[in-house]
Amino acid sequence: MSITAKPASIAAEAAAILDRLGVSKDAYTGGEMKAFSPITGEQTASVKTVSLSHAPAVIDHADAAFRVWRLVPAPKRGELVRLFGEELRAAKADLGRLVSIEAGKIPSEGLGEVQEMIDICDFAVGLSRQLYGLTIATERPGHRMMETWHPLGVIGIISAFNFPVAVWAWNAALALVCGNSVVWKPSEKTPLTALAAHAVLDRALKRFGDAPDGLSQLLIGDRAIGEVLVDHPKVPLVSATGSTRMGRDVGPRLAKRFARAILELGGNNGGIVCPSADLDMALRAVAFGAMGTAGQRCTTLRRLFVHDSVYDTFVPRLKKAYASVSVGNPLDGKALVGPLIDKLAFDTMQKALTEAKAHGGAVHGGERVDTGSADAYYVKPALVEMPTHTGPVLEETFAPILYVLKYSDFDAVLSDHNAVGAGLSSSIFTLNMQEAERFLAADGSDCGIANVNIGTSGAEIGGAFGGEKETGGGRESGSDAWRAYMRRATNTINYSKSLPLAQGVSFDI
Ligand code: NAD
Repeated sequence: MSITAKPASIAAEAAAILDRLGVSKDAYTGGEMKAFSPITGEQTASVKTVSLSHAPAVIDHADAAFRVWRLVPAPKRGELVRLFGEELRAAKADLGRLVSIEAGKIPSEGLGEVQEMIDICDFAVGLSRQLYGLTIATERPGHRMMETWHPLGVIGIISAFNFPVAVWAWNAALALVCGNSVVWKPSEKTPLTALAAHAVLDRALKRFGDAPDGLSQLLIGDRAIGEVLVDHPKVPLVSATGSTRMGRDVGPRLAKRFARAILELGGNNGGIVCPSADLDMALRAVAFGAMGTAGQRCTTLRRLFVHDSVYDTFVPRLKKAYASVSVGNPLDGKALVGPLIDKLAFDTMQKALTEAKAHGGAVHGGERVDTGSADAYYVKPALVEMPTHTGPVLEETFAPILYVLKYSDFDAVLSDHNAVGAGLSSSIFTLNMQEAERFLAADGSDCGIANVNIGTSGAEIGGAFGGEKETGGGRESGSDAWRAYMRRATNTINYSKSLPLAQGVSFDI
């Protein structure tokens, strides 16, 4: 286990990055919201927040921008997103480093998050020429029927701390090419990356030239500011990423005013290691999926079912990987596991481990790792061998805990796999075609993401991302997720000289 000394001043490095990216000092000094780095627990800045009374005016401003932007041809809107992608490429090193500073990610994951932003920009630029509607056969002679996709309005984006900028970009890039304006309420745990990412978009907006003022807005604030966005009548869609608890509040509020929701909530992701699995491959995939990002991905592997014929070969190897993984300061480039976001995350993890023990679990790891910073929370990832699929196994604990269970029957393991509230990501490790196909079939994994011979985390932007059940049902990013950001109109055009009614109805006056 490698542990490194506290760097000289993370706050100074963050300020230098913000400065380079063009964020005004005024935005992050003397404000009400304290920003921290989980790497040392030190305060990095004091960020200015928007007041509850001013937030609605920001949304009104975005609505005015929408009314202009919706009339700009979609390929021209794509040009703005192309420029955004260019600016992100130029800012990648700085922004990636800031993600590491504020979310505690190791460097390749900090940079990977920015790469994901670039990838979605590329995707959205192509999409700006492909917002297709159908032409549909009509039953009436001399008529044509088609569907047209129109911009929707102000898109509200609420994001979580663990993907502090990529989730915004997934939503914003699509929303902008679809002709919408965007208002973003980032996590209160990661306001600096939000300021930085927004400054990068501002650069693209300046180069673009004639985009309406207020097209993209940032609402820095706590949950109450998020509620303003959720309740505002001029926001027809809110894409909210965070805990299932948050979704339980946001979903009904949006439904009450008939607004749309894209809910991207918690996961309790499962993997199955079958008798025929390539165990070397499974080991690497499980290690990254369960310990990577210190277990703080929505797609983190949390439950692993191992067939009893390979359990005694595979699990000891996995335990060895757990015992040897390097935990420490992510900025030094050596550690594979960085810090938990805060003390609350640490306490929640310890509570889950205590509960697991009470349910008969054998806990390996999970202890706090001392890095010399009293306010930083590093832990050894925990592997917990569980006798039964009960207790804390059924809930998402946002920390590196992997529950390992033995199975013998494939139907029974599929049933256990699906017997949790969340339905985000899943994977199976097998070289048996019948097992692999069964896992992907209608009676297989009930998740939005089901993989074969790769882990549960690390999705690409080309596919639609999201999950079922308590994960909220939303889809964002690739495939046809763009449709959620537009309104569909069905148009019927009569180019004949008569007026036949559908279904043979006659109404002669
Ligand atoms: P969180 O729910 O505490 O906060 C997420 C965001 O929601 C924050 O910006 C917060 O201010 C806001 N918020 C909270 N309650 C709100 C309310 N009632 N109204 C409006 N806004 C509200 O989540 P977190 O701790 O930042 O992130 C971790 C959670 O997010 C985990 O459960 C993880 O699985 C989930 N997550 C899901 C996805 C996904 O795509 N499914 C991606 C990332 C994270």
